[in-house]
Amino acid sequence: MAARGETDWVSRFADEVISEAERRAPGKPVVCASGLSPSGPIHLGNLREVMTPHLVADEIRRRGVECVHLLSWDDYDRFRRVPAGVDPAWAEHIGKPLTAVPAPPGSTHANWAEHFKAPMIEAMAELGVRYRGISQTEQYTSGAYREQILLAVRERARIDAVLSRHRSKQVEDYFPYKPYCDLCGRDLTTVTAYDDETTELAYTCECGFGETVRLAEHDRGKLVWKVDWPMRWAYEGVIFEPSGVDHHSPGSAWTVGGQIVGDVFGGRQPIGPMYAFVGITGMAKMSSSKGDVPTPADALEIMEAPVLRWLYARRKPAQSFKIAFDQEIHRLYDEWDALGRKVATDQAQPAELAAYDRAVRTAEGPLPATPHPVPYRTLASIVDITTGDTEQTLRILRDLDGIGGLDQARPRLDRAQHWVDDHLPADQRTRVRESPDEELLDSIGPGERESLRLLADGLDDWSLDGLTTLVYGVPKLQAGLAADAAPTPELKAAQRAFFALLYRLLVGRDTGPRLPTLLLAVGADRVRKLVGG
Ligand SMILES: [Zn+2]
Repeated sequence: MAARGETDWVSRFADEVISEAERRAPGKPVVCASGLSPSGPIHLGNLREVMTPHLVADEIRRRGVECVHLLSWDDYDRFRRVPAGVDPAWAEHIGKPLTAVPAPPGSTHANWAEHFKAPMIEAMAELGVRYRGISQTEQYTSGAYREQILLAVRERARIDAVLSRHRSKQVEDYFPYKPYCDLCGRDLTTVTAYDDETTELAYTCECGFGETVRLAEHDRGKLVWKVDWPMRWAYEGVIFEPSGVDHHSPGSAWTVGGQIVGDVFGGRQPIGPMYAFVGITGMAKMSSSKGDVPTPADALEIMEAPVLRWLYARRKPAQSFKIAFDQEIHRLYDEWDALGRKVATDQAQPAELAAYDRAVRTAEGPLPATPHPVPYRTLASIVDITTGDTEQTLRILRDLDGIGGLDQARPRLDRAQHWVDDHLPADQRTRVRESPDEELLDSIGPGERESLRLLADGLDDWSLDGLTTLVYGVPKLQAGLAADAAPTPELKAAQRAFFALLYRLLVGRDTGPRLPTLLLAVGADRVRKLVGG
């Protein structure tokens, strides 16, 4: 269990949020909030919008304090544009709520918003994120916000005054509510008259339609964004809601919302740290069939949930970081495994331990872990060499690490397999030669021939340690040195030359996966054949 107090950023926010909740709403559950727009594939960069409040809410729950994490689906927002790859005919739906737009062709989902929510919901389940989803379509169309809408419209001059401090041009007849047209369903509407007494509202639409409705009974429209957000802070009693850097410039939704929530809705702005951008690297090589937007589901295909959680837990919200889809993921996993060893031997610093603990479990319990975590880079090499053949993979893992069944290496093995399939560039794939490179074998000198014979003769100790000793030892033996001799520049050069020769003979390139792993994967008989032994 992570220690309380000044352990890490999550603990510090939990302290602050709990005491603020006690001041604002004593005896009620603490409310943390996120918002996502399912206007298209939900970008991996947006996961921070969910993970930041999740980690804080989870810490609050770990302390035995009741806490709800609300996730607002902004699915009543207008459909703005047709993304690349979707039938241009969808342009006719621009201006409709996202839940009124048909799902993209071929989808099994009821509408556009549901189609893009679904993979995010799945990813959050895998990440252990517990939340209460709120569809803004349901909220608005059920009339849940009716009083708040009437209030905002009544107070429109006050809202206009707040907004006008941040805009250069004066807006005439400012109106904070936008009806969706009753005929065409789009928001290409203009409010032409409003009667505060009767709440009668007249609007016209670009489609030619127009009507007069009573706002007190009207459930086909929404507050504009800069009013909608603070309305919801007050309505839900949100205590903690971080937001991206783009919401924090002067005149932006966060800034003006802070005034509107108090002036109009009698509520208070949440504690809301700004979180920095999360970059994505190494996606260029990703298969185009999946679209060009990296999503949380894409990240979870190549890394286990605890590792992805760890990226968010270990960095303060204000720190930006990158999620790598290229070779960099090997280094990330090395770091993760090193931390796991430190934790297991009680050598981790308090902040490291806290981040690790938040990564591997939630208040509800531990996340699935790989029972026998072979290094990711080794797994990637193995599935690369075996092209995913399960029998060969099991044989190698047994020789390598005494693994009795592939399930012991899962789910990490499956993530490495996905990484090799989707992100290892074709020119870096390892293809073990079918037949010996006779031309190369004929061209080498007696010293090289001798080194290959020593290797072939030494293949009996068929373990990772044995093969490591062997490949480093052959050049020592040739130089007349003892097996435990310290490396000299000459010896290192000889080892490099020997390794390059082996790579060329085994895989036809100058480099490849670590040699002991490669030898294990190729198998003793085939190694002997390829080195002419
Ligand atoms: Zn219309």
